[in-house]
Amino acid sequence: MSRPRPVSPPPRVGLISLGCAKALVDSERLATRLAAEGYRFAASLGQADVVLITTCGFLDSAREESLAAIEEAASTGRPVVVTGCLGSEAELIRSRCPEVAAVTGPEAVDEVLAAVHRLAPKPHDPLLDLVPPQGLRFTPKHYAYLKIAEGCDRRCSFCIIPKLRGRQRSRSAASVLAEAERLVQAGVRELLVIAQDTAAYGSDLRYAESRLRGRPLRAHIVDLARALGELGVWVRLHYLYPYPLLDRLVELMAEGVVLPYLDVPLQHASPRILRAMRRPAQSARMLDRIRRWRAICPELAIRSTFIVGFPGESEEDFQLLLDWLCEAQLDRVGCFVYEDVAGAAANRLSGHVPEEVKEERRARLMELQARISREKLKARIGREEEVLVDRVEDGAAYARSYAESPEIDGFIRIRPAARLQPGLRLRVRITAATTHDLDAEPLSAAPDPAS
Ligand code: SF4
Repeated sequence: MSRPRPVSPPPRVGLISLGCAKALVDSERLATRLAAEGYRFAASLGQADVVLITTCGFLDSAREESLAAIEEAASTGRPVVVTGCLGSEAELIRSRCPEVAAVTGPEAVDEVLAAVHRLAPKPHDPLLDLVPPQGLRFTPKHYAYLKIAEGCDRRCSFCIIPKLRGRQRSRSAASVLAEAERLVQAGVRELLVIAQDTAAYGSDLRYAESRLRGRPLRAHIVDLARALGELGVWVRLHYLYPYPLLDRLVELMAEGVVLPYLDVPLQHASPRILRAMRRPAQSARMLDRIRRWRAICPELAIRSTFIVGFPGESEEDFQLLLDWLCEAQLDRVGCFVYEDVAGAAANRLSGHVPEEVKEERRARLMELQARISREKLKARIGREEEVLVDRVEDGAAYARSYAESPEIDGFIRIRPAARLQPGLRLRVRITAATTHDLDAEPLSAAPDPAS
């Protein structure tokens, strides 16, 4: 059987590589990724749909050569993307050549590719492309994790992620938003925003602006959350270290821009233990903040995680944590037993807690939280809520509201489930509650603003 040909030929990239061997390797990596995606390369600037220039900024003569190449490429009227060492001096480049379409620094492969995708989109050919435009995902079709940064600049004593993954490196806001748009176009109805330290997003970029279709967007979590909220799908923010700017995110939640779900890992409540963990130690002030957040956004669901049996944790410290949880009335809680991790600073602390004591403390904490959770879920009986269906099996649909994140929180079981399917948003009435889950009956299918 003959194979139909693609409707239009793939775009051609004009690639100019200047500078040292490191810049050459960057160019090779970019060329490899572009070729794997199906782009072709232009033999001359005149044949290119987009021009990509890897620059050098070391010596004055090399900078001048790079600027001259940028000017020559721009004079052809083709969109020009500049990367490499001189790309760190975006202002200089734009002052010499304002028509440049995108500028990134060195080793910004994802940003460069996002710019090429935007300026010369490659038509998706389902017969030839091995990878769909939104990429390969292991989550169900209707929700997706959106990673906005890698690495972490904090130094919590029990954690080796900064050693393993390095300092924080945020993606540009334009590249994050472009990926989010592709996911929504592919049918995603809930975006779960993640990073090691989500609220610190953009600090390593000094919150630099990037542009998507000419629209400037600051690499700041508040601006990014607002932009994602405009896509018309659920946006859920995970792993928010308790910085002061969380207050501003809670305001966005109250406005309905993102889901009123605050995942804020607090780890402990005893100031002594928090100091040993190298975490913010004002637990009493944290209770005030929680009260204030609930005043700003009364429907707020708060999730947190805690570590018990940290070195030096006395029965008094642990009791302080239990008392704090009684006061805080968090909606969802995860609890880990402390373990030494090779390379973590906490290993060297004195006062390691015996294993059986750690386990007993975890059981006590989870028992207390189960009572809190049961009461909180019982209070939802009779309420009407909007939910997103995850799966349908054995005559029931399993769904979640804004208050439940997939995999880590409970579910809402809907019966009857006739005509319900994964990815559908609908209104339900809560009819019963257990310790972690809810039962509900369907009311009506909610209009899906993203469809
Ligand atoms: S626990 Fe989180 S915030 Fe602390 S160092 Fe590890 S990744 Fe960073």
